[in-house]
Amino acid sequence: MFSQSDLEAYLDEALPPDQMASVEKALREDPELIRKASAIHSRRDAGVHSLGETWRNGRLSCPSREQLGSFLLGVLPEEIADYISFHLKVIGCRYCQANVNDLQSQQVEQKDAAETRRRRYFQTSAGYLRSE
Ligand SMILES: [Zn+2]
Repeated sequence: MFSQSDLEAYLDEALPPDQMASVEKALREDPELIRKASAIHSRRDAGVHSLGETWRNGRLSCPSREQLGSFLLGVLPEEIADYISFHLKVIGCRYCQANVNDLQSQQVEQKDAAETRRRRYFQTSAGYLRSE
């Protein structure tokens, strides 16, 4: 089963290759899915875009490392956090996933740091730590 946003991402060719292939396969076999996909098409013709589409169309680029760091700390506005979570989990961007893994291990190392240091980290974002 594919969700609406899977189909949207498919139409934007924004899915990982293996998922592109499985949506393609499903479209060949499932007339209901074809109806859904063409509904998205006509909705787009009418100029209506979902939040996910707006993010994809407006911000195709990867979030910055600082944004990913703030995402891990849970200090981003919900809308941006949603986008990053979409970017990582639905689009499955390998580059950003690697970045997040790296940031996560950094943050584990930082765990023993003094409270003042942690406060500074929140205030100045990951850029501060990178220079160390
Ligand atoms: Zn990315």
